[in-house]
Amino acid sequence: MGVQSAGPPGLVIIGSGPAGLSAAESFRERNRDDPVLMLTANPALPYQRPPLSKDFLRGAAEAGDAELHPAEWFADNAVEVVRSQPVDAIDVTQHLVMSRGSSYPYRWLVVTTGALPSPIPVPGGDNALQLRSLADATALREAASGADAAVVIGAGFIGCEAAASLAMRGVATTLVAPDPVPQAKRLGREAGERITALLTEVGVDYLAGVEVTEIGSRGVHLDNGTSIGCDLVLAATGVAPQADVAAQAGISTRDGRIAVDAGMQTSADNVWAAGDVALAQNSLAGRRIAVEHWQDAIDQGVVAGAAAAGEPGEWDGVPGFLDNDRGSNAEVPRLGRRVRNLHPRRTRRGFHGVVRVGRRGRRRTHPQRRRRLRPGRRTHSSAGSGPALVATPGTRVRCATDAPVAVSNTSITTSESRYRPR
Ligand SMILES: Cc1cc2nc3c(=O)[nH]c(=O)nc-3n(C[C@H](O)[C@H](O)[C@H](O)COP(=O)(O)OP(=O)(O)OC[C@H]3O[C@@H](n4cnc5c(N)ncnc54)[C@H](O)[C@@H]3O)c2cc1C
Repeated sequence: MGVQSAGPPGLVIIGSGPAGLSAAESFRERNRDDPVLMLTANPALPYQRPPLSKDFLRGAAEAGDAELHPAEWFADNAVEVVRSQPVDAIDVTQHLVMSRGSSYPYRWLVVTTGALPSPIPVPGGDNALQLRSLADATALREAASGADAAVVIGAGFIGCEAAASLAMRGVATTLVAPDPVPQAKRLGREAGERITALLTEVGVDYLAGVEVTEIGSRGVHLDNGTSIGCDLVLAATGVAPQADVAAQAGISTRDGRIAVDAGMQTSADNVWAAGDVALAQNSLAGRRIAVEHWQDAIDQGVVAGAAAAGEPGEWDGVPGFLDNDRGSNAEVPRLGRRVRNLHPRRTRRGFHGVVRVGRRGRRRTHPQRRRRLRPGRRTHSSAGSGPALVATPGTRVRCATDAPVAVSNTSITTSESRYRPR
């Protein structure tokens, strides 16, 4: 096995998603000298995933539009990216990462291996397309260009977005899921009904209360005995975190994810983890939270990269996600024990939820977040016990006080929102 090292070992990052890239950026901001090496299974340079189910699938954006940095950025910042280089093992004693017969020494290691879609466990499940990578999205877009009818399985955000995008392309699309309305558990029934209405408006047929039992060459079979004919099936039935390499190295995992503290430190010395693969302690929530969201992956990567550069910090922002469906946004917090999330309610301004966060008397906002804050106007909280900050459409509120704070304006009713994931 060859040892790949031109000089003294520096930072090695496994994975090139938002967590990996922000770890590299954050490390470089603090350390201009030590080498940064990113080993990724991905054949492409780092890109945005959020547009893949939206503008890209609709044909309104191309692969180049999703790039996170041009190739020159990596050269200018001395961040070496080795693509199509899946890591198969980590030796935490020798400080080595192994990939395809080569071993890479590290001084600091950040694991950001993300998650991959789980195949749908029904006969013919392999016939369904999936949507995670740019390659998946390209294959889906190509299939859509020749399809008359599509079935999308699963009404999470990716399923809803992909179904809307396919319908907007003119493909007759049926979205099937067991839930009476999409995402009722996460957003509440009222918001779920609004999502159904939005889907219907663009021509998606939402078929509730059914599960797919088999995928055949001409369509899908359902547990109510009926079948839907189609020439394209997309399974959007959830993802599995990619924690095996870390687990096999003896790094502690929990619930299939790498367990880290609020500083993104794993159980191994000089090894941090961030993003979808991590089960991270959120110091505001006071417990570990699994999140699968773009901005949280960035925030955790920032903390991991800074820690590797000798500046430990904490992940203490309110986790949440941004969604952009038909030009409207939804931002929903995933919260901890001390945070009560009331389901978003319809108001004259759109949907918003009120949550109680933090400890009495404490105000905590992550410095990285503070720069992005554009809080909306103050108003009375619907809980009636103090002031609240309510996000107006297009703003992101990431503020935590002991007072009830609206951190979510699920503005799925508006088309004014301008915020897009970067
Ligand atoms: C279509 C789509 C739309 C989305 N839209 C939104 C949205 O609107 N808002 C939102 O908040 N979130 C959205 N998400 C979720 C968001 O993209 C993820 O939460 C985010 O990408 C997680 O970042 P990550 O860096 O942890 O992992 P990933 O982005 O999954 O990156 C993991 C990286 O690790 C690499 N890797 C994996 N295993 C190995 C290995 N063994 N060796 C080397 N490299 C490896 C992969 O190739 C990849 O580069 C969307 C996701 C998808 C798929």
